[in-house]
Amino acid sequence: MKEIIMIKYGELTTKKDNRNFFINTLTKNIENALSDLNITITKDYYRMFIETNKVDEVIDRLSNIFGIHEIVKCLFDENRDLDNIYKLASNVIDEGVTFKVDTNRSDKTYETPSMEVSRKVGAYLLKNVKNLKVDVNNPQTLINVEIRREGVYVYSKGVSGKGGYPVGTLGKGLLMLSGGIDSVVAGYMALKRGVKLDFIYFESLPHTSLEARQKVIDLKNTLKKFGNSGKLYIINFTKIQEDIYRNTDNDYLITLMRRKMYKIATRLAIKIKANAIFNGESIGQVASQTLTSIKVVNEVTSFPIIRPLASFDKLEIIKIANEIGTYETSIKPYEDCCTIFVPKHPVINPNLMYAKSEEEKLNEELLNNALKDMIIITDEKENKEEDIL
Ligand code: ATP
Ligand code: MG
Repeated sequence: MKEIIMIKYGELTTKKDNRNFFINTLTKNIENALSDLNITITKDYYRMFIETNKVDEVIDRLSNIFGIHEIVKCLFDENRDLDNIYKLASNVIDEGVTFKVDTNRSDKTYETPSMEVSRKVGAYLLKNVKNLKVDVNNPQTLINVEIRREGVYVYSKGVSGKGGYPVGTLGKGLLMLSGGIDSVVAGYMALKRGVKLDFIYFESLPHTSLEARQKVIDLKNTLKKFGNSGKLYIINFTKIQEDIYRNTDNDYLITLMRRKMYKIATRLAIKIKANAIFNGESIGQVASQTLTSIKVVNEVTSFPIIRPLASFDKLEIIKIANEIGTYETSIKPYEDCCTIFVPKHPVINPNLMYAKSEEEKLNEELLNNALKDMIIITDEKENKEEDIL
């Protein structure tokens, strides 16, 4: 008899061709998340099994992987004799509960019919485990017996998986990642829907610090436990910001700055073959996130911009940030580029024609330079790639 982990797949599309792709991607993500542990994975169309000597550690890590509905600790034995099944079942059930036994016989050559296996296991448990009572409608413990070709699995309820789609099954997105609370949460929501993420961060050295950059790297790294390992593209935004600051109506500073951000993000997204840009905007959160502001900023691009937090309250966002373990990093006091150039009276309902006329005063070449000089961080290693765009 040995312990083995069974994974029930989450929300997989029912389309046949996709199913294999989803299962294979999930397998790769699980292998990555457990790469430092000794594991053996077997899988079929409906279930995945993981053998390991670190059962609890593996279950803990699996609970962060998208595409899993339930994670179940099972007892497995190659010996499928009824006597042996009784033994397994009595190891799974606790004393003093109401219970029911359900048997699933995927190997139809097994001689005893499922109903009879359930009945016999139930009778054995009633006789041999203290204070049990059968309840077929609403049992406290459901004992599942799965008889398969390779042996028998016995288990009761597992822990819930994270649901969602396996990261990477829905293509690639580019997340505008700041050091704040919202954007990393938006990233988490994108991963949940199966989108793999790369990241873009705008910094304004020397107005911002290397600690602020490190904070963004740390935030990106916290998403690794959900199965995402993407590149971080760091754009030096200083000259662009200074150009805006010196040469335009300061009430429009944020509007113009964000239009530049969207332009750069779009060019990068195309280059890295992302299908959409994600950010942490939330309607009405600040002046730059009124619907009018969003419309005026969004005007620079026809690329899909997805805002997973559009309708969330700040408190709801903070709750998720705490749950996914990003909040403590996000509230560290290092400033991003945007907090430094804050206008006294940011416009709440910017006018598109006026924004465009102010924009004409700016040096468009700075945008090309920023892209040319960007830094790319791949797995903690930094390298500068000239002429990527
Ligand atoms: P957050 O929204 O993550 O708490 P923030 O409050 O500093 O950070 P906002 O001013 O609310 O950011 O900007 C809205 C969104 O724009 C962010 O959620 C993020 O997606 C993007 N963004 C803002 N600043 C940056 C930056 N320096 N680099 C990359 N993206 C940014
Ligand atoms: Mg915000």
